Amino acid sequence: MILPSFELHRPSSLAEAIDLVRGFEARGESYDFLSGGTDLLANYKCKINVKRHVVSLRHLPELLGISRDSIGAGELLWRIAESQEIHESFPALAKAAEWVASPLIRESATIGGNLLQDTRCYHYNQTYWWRVAHESCLKAEADVCRVVPGEKTCVATYCGDLAPVLLCMGASVRLVGPDGSRDVPLSAFYIDEGIQRFVKKPSEILSEVRIPTEARRRKVAYRKLRLRQSIDFPDAGIAFAAELSGSRIVNCWIASTAVGSAALLHPDVAQKAMGRDLGEPLAGELAAALVASARPYRNTFFAPGYRKEMLGVLLRRAMAEVGGFEPAPSQSAAG
Ligand SMILES: Cc1cc2nc3c(=O)[nH]c(=O)nc-3n(C[C@H](O)[C@H](O)[C@H](O)COP(=O)(O)OP(=O)(O)OC[C@H]3O[C@@H](n4cnc5c(N)ncnc54)[C@H](O)[C@@H]3O)c2cc1C
Repeated sequence: MILPSFELHRPSSLAEAIDLVRGFEARGESYDFLSGGTDLLANYKCKINVKRHVVSLRHLPELLGISRDSIGAGELLWRIAESQEIHESFPALAKAAEWVASPLIRESATIGGNLLQDTRCYHYNQTYWWRVAHESCLKAEADVCRVVPGEKTCVATYCGDLAPVLLCMGASVRLVGPDGSRDVPLSAFYIDEGIQRFVKKPSEILSEVRIPTEARRRKVAYRKLRLRQSIDFPDAGIAFAAELSGSRIVNCWIASTAVGSAALLHPDVAQKAMGRDLGEPLAGELAAALVASARPYRNTFFAPGYRKEMLGVLLRRAMAEVGGFEPAPSQSAAG
């Protein structure tokens, strides 16, 4: 597949990138940001939402740096997976980064691009000619949803691995644009709609992921279901975090990915765990509640019924890792 033509801009500072955006906005010209390009350019090759200008954020010094408090949006996933500081303080985040795609993709892919990757759907992530032959969908060239006929909003699935872990850590993102900068908690960042996706304005650049000190007190685990362990996107993913007093849960968080158009916290399910002992009986109870609340669509590889059931399995395994107990046995392809 051949990349369609666009004008590539390579600013050398964040201020220069924002100046470029100011100009495009004033002239009404379309543009995209480019980090590793592992998501954006794959979509461009399928002629999905191609823009006239592409602003490369690669090598912007303001988007680099890894510490326990902050990760620059331009940091590569392999560097996060192998960072000693991240390993020691947030092992689940290192693991989620290590589980993204394949080693080659992690050499280009950034944490910013991971959080902002496009939503995915069987009817959308196809070549242009496939889409035309199947009359396309409302996220691309048509105005009809092929997954839920009659649906007027997009149900494409968000499939990022890092967002659920960062949600459980209480992280926020720093957005910088022509109107200044602002910090948005990740819990208020995503919108459960496949086209709109998040509250970031098109002109804003994600510069940094900020990690609160409370995250260091939380024990976090992440589990992911995917077809091929060597490369695939999650077809379901669950992060679980707890603050413990002995085996008693003082506070806990559950977040999912790849079962809706956003990565989401599940406070109603997590609430049931407050003050309880972290063990298999509680894990079974929370897993049943989570499965009952989930509504995945038929738009990724595995059937929605299977993905729904697997959410429970993944949660039990994540809770078992945090609590140090044996999860109930199950037959599955989950990681
Ligand atoms: C075969 C394959 C397997 C994959 N498997 C996984 C997987 O298992 N798990 C997973 O999570 N992802 C997976 N991905 C998706 C993708 O590779 C990753 O999410 C990656 O981290 C995206 O980062 P990037 O830097 O390449 O983003 P890009 O492609 O450069 O950008 C993605 C989007 O974010 C925007 N963007 C990027 N950075 C910024 C910024 N700083 N500010 C504002 N906007 C920005 C771009 O405009 C674009 O819309 C896979 C991709 C492929 C091709």
